[in-house]
Amino acid sequence: MGYFAYLIGAVIVFVWSMIVQANLKSKMQKGAQMRAGSGKTANQVVEEMLRAHDVTGITVEHKPGNLTDCYSPKEGKIYLSDTTYGQSSVTAIAVAAHEAGHAVQDHENMLLYEVRQFLAPAAGIASRVGPYIVIAGVLISAYAQNSSSDIGYTIGTIGILVYFVAFLFYLVMLPVERNASNRAFKDMKEFGWVADDQLSFARTALRAAGDTYAVALASSAITLLRLLAIRGGRGGRRR
Ligand SMILES: [Zn+2]
Repeated sequence: MGYFAYLIGAVIVFVWSMIVQANLKSKMQKGAQMRAGSGKTANQVVEEMLRAHDVTGITVEHKPGNLTDCYSPKEGKIYLSDTTYGQSSVTAIAVAAHEAGHAVQDHENMLLYEVRQFLAPAAGIASRVGPYIVIAGVLISAYAQNSSSDIGYTIGTIGILVYFVAFLFYLVMLPVERNASNRAFKDMKEFGWVADDQLSFARTALRAAGDTYAVALASSAITLLRLLAIRGGRGGRRR
């Protein structure tokens, strides 16, 4: 991917991410004003969902802040944020059911979920370090142009492989997140946690949250293509 193509791609992803964020924010705020038809709290929904899928040993705790909702497999806890914990809004129910969906994925040893968990610790470091290794390889190629060895190219390739771990993480994350939302939606419908006329809204809110992972994947993909171009071909050729 040439520099110009990369710039265009980066701008498109940036604009797309702004739209996705704005859409998510408006959906979450709108859903926060809607009281769920069942009147149940997010905590009750988590408990019911876990029980329905025979998941035991998980506790629900309040994690102060916004967007702090998460499932921690290590601690066996589902953390719910200020706008979710103990709340009965459609947003709170959807978010809580989504997090419970992750606990169910874990309990069922869903392959993609396991892969995601395996990659998670390395992905953050890989995405930061990989590009620097590629640049180091390019610099070495530039200084060793007369050398017959391809050490710069080899280092560049190592950097790309390192970054690839981060790309794989985002690639796996998207279907895992969509699956957690699908599980949430299915149970929301089956157990009637929200009213029938709130269901389609809950689904669009969950989709809006899932879109953020599509943006992350696209962003990671163009970075990977750009790194391949920066490394160039053998013998220090660059575009
Ligand atoms: Zn999730």
